[in-house]
Amino acid sequence: MSDQPLESELPAIEFPAISSAKESDRVHLLDWTTEELASWLGARSIPKFRAAQIQRWIYQRRAKQFEQMTDLPKDLRTLLDEHFDLFRTTTAAHQHAADGTEKLLLQLVDGGRIECVLLRDGPRRSICVSSQVGCAMGCVFCASGLDGVERNLTRGEILEQMLKLQHLLEADERLSHIVMMGMGEPLANLPRVLAALSVAKDSEFGLGISPRRITISTVGLPPAIDKLAAADAPYHLAISLHAPNDGLRNRLVPVNQTIGIQAILDAADRYFAKTKRRLTFEYVLLGGLNDSIQCARELVQLLRHRTAMLNVIPYNPVPGLPYQTPTPSAVLQFRRTLLDGGVNAMFRQRKGDEIQAACGQLRRLREREPQVVSIQSTKTS
Ligand code: SAH
Repeated sequence: MSDQPLESELPAIEFPAISSAKESDRVHLLDWTTEELASWLGARSIPKFRAAQIQRWIYQRRAKQFEQMTDLPKDLRTLLDEHFDLFRTTTAAHQHAADGTEKLLLQLVDGGRIECVLLRDGPRRSICVSSQVGCAMGCVFCASGLDGVERNLTRGEILEQMLKLQHLLEADERLSHIVMMGMGEPLANLPRVLAALSVAKDSEFGLGISPRRITISTVGLPPAIDKLAAADAPYHLAISLHAPNDGLRNRLVPVNQTIGIQAILDAADRYFAKTKRRLTFEYVLLGGLNDSIQCARELVQLLRHRTAMLNVIPYNPVPGLPYQTPTPSAVLQFRRTLLDGGVNAMFRQRKGDEIQAACGQLRRLREREPQVVSIQSTKTS
């Protein structure tokens, strides 16, 4: 898939060039496909099957260094070490919550910082992964976009988050779900996101997670939703709606001003028609703003005839922003109105509250007031 049309649909953003010596001299191996690695090895008269072996070590056997790939000849391990970085981020913070949630703040080679989260829920081991440094969408209640977007993440940087979270698992735990719900707008970086997810779903050399268990969450960019529908796998699509009418959504999700809810619902319907995957709409409940019975009634009108689920999430307050979690009675009334109206709604509990698990929060705390966070800092690679 070409990068060109997708990015030209978005507001023009100048991404600074990455000029680290380390980056320019060495290759981030996670940026390469098995075929690219095989041809690099082939050019050095090394059997191509070694590429598959190396990929399995990385994605399935959880190797952290080439040194650990013990069934590769020693001189091949040395050669790989000379030419490639396996992991490029350093762990700036590692937080654990009592409910088993763990969050990593990763520092990239150019100094940018991204967050990713491991959630433990019964047998599920879900990971929440970032797609950009910052975010350009400007949702008024969200910590990720407060300083705009710095740049897209590379394929390797997206995969590195998945792997570093996989390293946190015990030997008997397995990743089961991926949600692209960290920092950034995944559909504004679709080629890299799809490249990384094709490794995530690959059971031969990659992580082997079914596309049904991989969710791409978007603010709702219709042309990119159509491109996603044409992608090689029917991923689960989640659309962050947050308001039932354009007046309110324009205020909460400013990018809506040039898109509009109807265009998003039309794109969602096309996605469903093409993939037959049930859609999810997300709705962050903001106390006194979008939690009225009237909002719930309007949502019923939008959603009752669609094969869709509504995921209602109480707002996780962001320090410095004036938005609030809804009251329990508002949540109750909202819920009753939706269920009475025949909407398939799920009301989510917040997880990982004490470690600022909502999008972009940890990064801001670490930038502005590092002393207030209790962190078990770990140094890696
Ligand atoms: N840009 C994508 C994905 C990243 S955000 C999107 O908009 O879907 C993932 C979800 O978390 C979105 O629904 C977003 O609106 C929501 N979110 C952001 N900040 C939040 C907060 N403080 N509390 C609860 N949900 C939040």
